[in-house]
Amino acid sequence: MTPPFMPLPKFLSALFASFAVNHGFFRFAPSLPHSTVPSLMKIAVLSGDGIGPEVMDASLLVFRKVAERFQLQPQFTEALVGGIAIDRTGKALPEETIATCHASEAILFGSVGGPKWESLPPNEQPERAALLPLRKIFGLYANLRPAICYPELVNASPIKNELMPGGFDILVVRELTGGIYFGQPKKTEATPTGERATDTLVYETHEIERAAHVAFRAALARSKKVHLIDKANVLESSLLWRKTVKRIAQDYPGVQLEFMYVDNAAMQVMKNPRQFDVMLCENMFGDILSDEVAAATGSLGLLPSASLAEGSFGLYEPSGGTAPDIAGKGIANPIAQILSIALMLEYSFQRLDAAQAIRAAVQRVIASGTRTADIWAEGCQKAGTQAMGQAIAEAI
Ligand code: NAD
Repeated sequence: MTPPFMPLPKFLSALFASFAVNHGFFRFAPSLPHSTVPSLMKIAVLSGDGIGPEVMDASLLVFRKVAERFQLQPQFTEALVGGIAIDRTGKALPEETIATCHASEAILFGSVGGPKWESLPPNEQPERAALLPLRKIFGLYANLRPAICYPELVNASPIKNELMPGGFDILVVRELTGGIYFGQPKKTEATPTGERATDTLVYETHEIERAAHVAFRAALARSKKVHLIDKANVLESSLLWRKTVKRIAQDYPGVQLEFMYVDNAAMQVMKNPRQFDVMLCENMFGDILSDEVAAATGSLGLLPSASLAEGSFGLYEPSGGTAPDIAGKGIANPIAQILSIALMLEYSFQRLDAAQAIRAAVQRVIASGTRTADIWAEGCQKAGTQAMGQAIAEAI
């Protein structure tokens, strides 16, 4: 008797898988079997300034180790960005760097900026002249910031231990290219009594839909709960967010959707962070709340981020900056950069298996008591940036 579902011949399933991966169908799906996933990964490496190159070096130790274990073939192409690019080429984002990024499937970014370039005109300063254009050129519309407060590090959090036994694990999904930061008109004009400044908070349905899909798909792989953070009691745009997100939620019956006003959410993060799984926010609310959630984990050095485009392209970077106060000392925490690689493997290359191996290694090393200065506590072994990277690589 013919079985109801004939298995596809191996070469056809490989062809289908490769097509689906290249077209981003599996961005949030669990990993495909190893044999069907193209393992060559073209990655632009933009280390930038300050602690950027130090934490990047340490994180690549981990990338190489995970590549060996999971038969991946990362192909790294380094390019200049930020202050160092200004010094060498006169531009924070040189054409050659843009070309390298275009030729890549993902960008691994360090961080840019520092006191040396702070006297430049605002539009030429590294962050504004490198990161904002990168977001625009590559259409990076959703920012993901997972913030984990590990059980071993609850003492480093400003939140009282008894309010979050065992720590917390929150993912903030922030819409990145719309809302009040970009809406028009945006202007300042003279009035008979002084001046009037206008910013415009505007959203269209399709912008909300795509951000909502990112949040729901991420929730499927987590604790299956999405909080939409808004101000629907006063803002028209929040009403459109609620209506649209409610509709999208019907595509994800396994995910629970809740609504919360942003002012209450800011308070709830401090009082009961464990109630949150995925927080879906429009641009400005996400900007503010993601920093609050980050601060609640205890150290900026632990927090990765992903900025995603349509399809599978993404830019992956630590949430913190160039930390000029500790740059060059070899003491920065490389975990944010290392966990950014995990996000890249999950979202751009659909290798949840390799991503989870990195996350587990980080957790094991933290549990073993090896700590960089920012998360060090009495009784733990102090490690520098390279030693921490090495320890995590060995734990893979
Ligand atoms: P910062 O994130 O660089 O530093 C804030 C504090 O966190 C500092 O005390 C720093 O030592 C600490 N910290 C950050 N990362 C750490 C790590 N990996 N390990 C241990 N400690 C860490 O923020 P800042 O001081 O406001 O900014 C410094 C520079 O970075 C500025 O020029 C700013 O424009 C730039 N910046 C760049 C980015 C980016 O490239 N995406 C983001 C934020 C700030």
